[in-house]
Amino acid sequence: MDAIQSSPLLSLDRITRVYRVGSEVVRALDGVSFGVARGEWLAVVGQSGSGKSTLMNILGCLDTPSSGTYRINGRDVQGLQDDELSDLRNKEIGFVFQTFQLLSRATALANVELPLVYRGVARRERRQAAEEALRAVGLADRMHHRPNELSGGQRQRVAVARALVGEPSLLLADEPTGNLDSNTGEEIIRLFAELHQRGHTIVLVTHEPRLAARCPRAVRLMDGRVVADGPGREVAMLGIAQAVPA
Ligand code: ADP
Ligand code: MG
Repeated sequence: MDAIQSSPLLSLDRITRVYRVGSEVVRALDGVSFGVARGEWLAVVGQSGSGKSTLMNILGCLDTPSSGTYRINGRDVQGLQDDELSDLRNKEIGFVFQTFQLLSRATALANVELPLVYRGVARRERRQAAEEALRAVGLADRMHHRPNELSGGQRQRVAVARALVGEPSLLLADEPTGNLDSNTGEEIIRLFAELHQRGHTIVLVTHEPRLAARCPRAVRLMDGRVVADGPGREVAMLGIAQAVPA
């Protein structure tokens, strides 16, 4: 455990992200520091506007901090060129979004193959990997369906398969159950639990305490700062306590 703790997959050190809108300055992240070990399943919770998506964009190398250091596997992301950064993003990070972001005219299989097309993987190999990823999310019998022929939960499963097909080190999900009813959301959380069991590292952004409570660990943001970091159940409870008017 000590060895893992001392070399986290992700490490954030005093990260800030400042947005300037006209004359207004928004400190969306204000000194965020924590690490994520390989194989951890971490929830990031907090009310709307607390900085969750901003943090997610930084973790996913879609955005860079205004100050502070972000390391993936010990590599300082700040020092990388644009092409190195997109390479890191494509190889190491799988994204899952609230709105699925699937190509509507493409089959599940073609959607899942897409990241491998960008990587120049040969057709047959691509197809095999995509089939395997779809089987892993329980969609063996839906490979040739298009998104509009699938339920919301199935669409999100396709998106999870697409995120996993390139065998990234990290799975990042921003409110992946936000567009699903609670039963379907539950189904997706069970899928994440399964992926966690299989050793995947997952960072899940959610504003739903019920879901955060399922994660071994949760970090709570408030006004761009970490105000709690501990077992998911406990950190989720803080949210419920806060939500109850005095
Ligand atoms: P959350 O995902 O927790 O709802 P965000 O990270 O989206 O929070 O936003 C955090 C804060 O930063 C909010 O006050 C939001 O208005 C502001 N913000 C987010 N993105 C931008 C942007 N592109 N430009 C200006 N302000 C932004
Ligand atoms: Mg958000």
